Amino acid sequence: MENNLNINTRFAPTPSGYLHLGNVFSFILTWLIVRKNSGTIRLRIDDLDFERARHEYIADIIQTLDTLGLDYDYGPVSVDAFRNEFSKFKRLDLYEDYIGQLERTGLLFNCACSKKEIREASGSNNYPGTCLNKAITFHQSETTYRINTESIKGLIINDELQGQIHVDIENEMPFFVIRKKDGMPSYQVASLVDDIHYNINYVIRGIDLLPSTGAQMFVANVLKLRPFLKSKFFHHQLLKDGEEKLTKSQKSPPVFEILSKPEGKAQIFQDFSEWIGLPERVTTLAELLSVFEMSQMKFQNQLGI
Ligand SMILES: [Zn+2]
Repeated sequence: MENNLNINTRFAPTPSGYLHLGNVFSFILTWLIVRKNSGTIRLRIDDLDFERARHEYIADIIQTLDTLGLDYDYGPVSVDAFRNEFSKFKRLDLYEDYIGQLERTGLLFNCACSKKEIREASGSNNYPGTCLNKAITFHQSETTYRINTESIKGLIINDELQGQIHVDIENEMPFFVIRKKDGMPSYQVASLVDDIHYNINYVIRGIDLLPSTGAQMFVANVLKLRPFLKSKFFHHQLLKDGEEKLTKSQKSPPVFEILSKPEGKAQIFQDFSEWIGLPERVTTLAELLSVFEMSQMKFQNQLGI
């Protein structure tokens, strides 16, 4: 960790369900890293999947962060504030502008395949490039903009935690989506554009999002988005359900259920301290921060793959 970097990062949940322990552990880790380094955190909720982004899930995010004491420097403090000021729907023109820039590079193509057709053509969910050379005209409804990933010859991410990691886009996310069938920007575009727009320079996320980081690096390379290319990345291990140390049952309950019990909050901090490998029992956020400040390097290995 470099001490001379002013970290600007974000909590970036998707409100498609109630928060689970994995989400909250990622928030706590982000909060600790930022508060130790005098950085800033923005709460940025990805509500572009309008059908799934329900009011109660957005409220759950804001409430849970508040209950746990995970304060942030920018972002909504209520669902109304979120809808009025911070929703991704407020930035659709911005996303479209970047999609237009990508279209002008000649790397995009329009795809008319259904999910079923993709499965039948590839035997998996990976898109085999069916429409790559069909030159289907853009700006139609019910089509998907994809990007030609054939030019990617190995992509390396310099991860703060794990060093150099190779991302295999050709196998993991070939021809990934830029603009979805419903006309909305894909997660990759919306996340990247927001990171640029809000001057995010430090991205903390689970290792499951490594292919997404690769996809976003590719787009950032194409559009020469230097701030994103210079960002630091920190991909942490995921919390797995069923890990003996952490959860007694096969599936952990939603966090709001844990927090409804008298000892719930202390239990979450204790489970978190076990997850990152702290030797002592820590039951408050303040204690966690003081122990984290002393021993960050010691338990970094615990967070790796
Ligand atoms: Zn297609």
